[in-house]
Amino acid sequence: MSPKSALTRFQTLLRIPTISYADESLIDWTQFDSFIATIAELYPLVHSRLEREIVAGHTVLFRWPGRGASEPSLLMAHYDVVPATDLGWTHPPFAADVTGTGADEVIWGRGTLDNKGAVTGILEAVERQLATELVPAQDVYLVFTHNEESAGDAAPAVVDLLESRGIRPAFVLDEGGAVVEGVFPAVTAPVAVVGVSEKGQADFRLIVEEQGGHASTPPKVTATVRLAKAIVRINEHPFPARFSVTALDMFRTLGDHASGVIGWAFRNIGLTRFALLPVAARSGNELNAMVRTTQAVTILTAGQAPNALAERAEANINVRIAVGMSMARVLKHLTRSINDEKVRIELVHGTEAPPVSLLSGIGWEVLRATVESTYPGTVVTPYVQNGATDSRHFTRISRGVYRFTPFEVSKDERDALHAKNERLHVATFLRGIEFYAALIAAL
Ligand SMILES: [Zn+2]
Repeated sequence: MSPKSALTRFQTLLRIPTISYADESLIDWTQFDSFIATIAELYPLVHSRLEREIVAGHTVLFRWPGRGASEPSLLMAHYDVVPATDLGWTHPPFAADVTGTGADEVIWGRGTLDNKGAVTGILEAVERQLATELVPAQDVYLVFTHNEESAGDAAPAVVDLLESRGIRPAFVLDEGGAVVEGVFPAVTAPVAVVGVSEKGQADFRLIVEEQGGHASTPPKVTATVRLAKAIVRINEHPFPARFSVTALDMFRTLGDHASGVIGWAFRNIGLTRFALLPVAARSGNELNAMVRTTQAVTILTAGQAPNALAERAEANINVRIAVGMSMARVLKHLTRSINDEKVRIELVHGTEAPPVSLLSGIGWEVLRATVESTYPGTVVTPYVQNGATDSRHFTRISRGVYRFTPFEVSKDERDALHAKNERLHVATFLRGIEFYAALIAAL
């Protein structure tokens, strides 16, 4: 299993356009069938020695029997990708071109980071360990889901299946944080951010209905004006800022590796939190999103004709719910901010923020030790992830669910997620395989 052939196999998998659409009628399922058949060809030991089941149509579940009968571990990733057209890409999104040499060797394509890099990394590592006759201490499950990007039914179906068999993994690892540099002030070491929870999310619809009529004789407050006022009021009443327990843990961890007054402030976050909170809230959108529930008006609809008053005006509000906040409290906050009973608020759909995973136990300890051995000099810290992942469903059957992709990614590379020119350094991909191989050996 040379690195060159690992890269070739990665290219093969990237070239299969397993594109997710919310509208399932647009999905080309033959690509998903082809992906499943191709991993069977590329990873013969995985397919001959592990038990395989197909769940929810196209999700692949493997069980690697271990020596013991204690709680198993579970490694997961998704192989569907968001759509991409050639427009604006330096290299076509499904060509899997490789450019450069040495440290500058880069592989381009949709899915390199999100999330076929992890799918391939896990398969490479397991195949390699099977070749050395490794038998894990406990069972190891591998789960490759097919509709993460459309928040589909696969992950909950896998959880239902495992739950029905009484399986409660001690450790679940899914996509999420990465090894990053230069994100935290005064911390010069690389930092591995491991998601121990993620925000919940919900869509609310504001609806205003008024008598329509001719636009030449409008009343003082039309449906559109009432809706606009409600939106402005929501915007003027952000959710309160607060450091979660996880954020406090994060600052304490980083404080040990930060210099000067910032290091001191981080280490003594119990004292400095009230001074730091407003600073964090003002320090850019990413940090602001870390300290509060956020709300964004994403869709506005009203009116049928340029000269007719709208009978109905609607706004969609996308809310990302902080850990410690609930959907019921979000609704209460919105209702109070709008303060107008003619504006109806409906919950379209939503999920609460999942519980925070343990910062102790085998999963956390093995994960931390493996990051430190694969990425020497890296600080491992918990954090709450802003985006949603399939792993949230697994909190139902495990207290050790972690969100971490073992790749070192720059700001530019992170910005290419779900955007054009998604890419990954080849050396990073190969190091990710080392990470998974070491992790499996330690489980
Ligand atoms: Zn993803």
